[in-house]
Amino acid sequence: MITAKFGGTAVTPRNLVYLKKIISPFHKVVVVSAVGKEFSSDVKTTDLLEKYFFSGDDNIWKAVEDKYRRLTEVNGIGIDVDELLFGAKARARRYGLQYCMSLGEELSAKIVAEYLGAAYVEADEVVRFGVRSLLFKETMSAMSNAYKGVKLAVTGGYYGMGKYGRQTFSRGGSDVTGALCAAATMSSLYENWTDVYGVCVADPVKVYGVSTIRSMSYSEMRALSRGGAEVLHPSAISPAERFSIPIKIGNFYNPQGASTLVSQCYSQNKLLSVTEKRVDGKIKTTILHNMNFAEISAVVSGFFGERYSVLNCFGVSINTEKNKTYSCVFSKNKAVLVTESTVIEDLYKYLRRAELIKVD
Ligand code: ASP
Repeated sequence: MITAKFGGTAVTPRNLVYLKKIISPFHKVVVVSAVGKEFSSDVKTTDLLEKYFFSGDDNIWKAVEDKYRRLTEVNGIGIDVDELLFGAKARARRYGLQYCMSLGEELSAKIVAEYLGAAYVEADEVVRFGVRSLLFKETMSAMSNAYKGVKLAVTGGYYGMGKYGRQTFSRGGSDVTGALCAAATMSSLYENWTDVYGVCVADPVKVYGVSTIRSMSYSEMRALSRGGAEVLHPSAISPAERFSIPIKIGNFYNPQGASTLVSQCYSQNKLLSVTEKRVDGKIKTTILHNMNFAEISAVVSGFFGERYSVLNCFGVSINTEKNKTYSCVFSKNKAVLVTESTVIEDLYKYLRRAELIKVD
């Protein structure tokens, strides 16, 4: 039995057909996001809903309507979309921001359920929050009751019912709903379908052709999500880990292509990931790795040693020829460098040459 979650790019007029192709008789629960971006400058439904809540601007609501109308029209889905949208609009600004922002997932799930000929299971009925946080046990039992005896069900991600009304997870939270559904139904696999080939060592936009990490452990994935990898919500890991359910992160455009499997097995890669954040005009680069101390410090000092005079790589600071001091702090399985963006480009090149970042 499989639980599959589809990100917003899969739930767009032209891509919905890919979703359908993936669903097999082994699938039991499908969790969907709100309609996502159709092109790079497009705005996600959830962002439109947030703006609509604060402004009440009818043009913004029309943009939301347009997305869902086209989703049904392009895919020939026989649902009364006007009635759905009318009902959603009437509730949109009545029950608070989180309620409004959850409507994208609700609409997606109702439409996708009709498209797949599946049962619609309302997230309010199965995802339970307390005053603030998720009620795990209540959620598990509500879900196992709701999905029992259902052949295929579709549920909207990202939201559920709280003590004082509908409530959402943080952004990207459909991943969490998917993991909870996988746990409650004792799925043998949790598929998380996105528009990229799983988790890569470095940002594929910055490092051309960078290869996918084929397998990694739950704790490695957790470290990566916390370090800024956006491909999976950090709270989606625990429910799967608790029941040893592997998470497959794959590309819905090419389901047989490269993907990442998150399970109890540790990655074979020496270098797990390189992520960057801009902090006070400098670049903070976090390198997650599976090397021992001597190996990682050899990598870092090898890189800086090519161009800069390394004062004290083990200690912390690296003095450059321009008299700038960059810092490098090592902790277990992690090295954090604070440098400038030009240095990072060189670092990527160095890591590629050292075959620590592999390219396909
Ligand atoms: N639609 C929400 C977001 O854009 C939740 C999700 O996609 O998981 O963050």
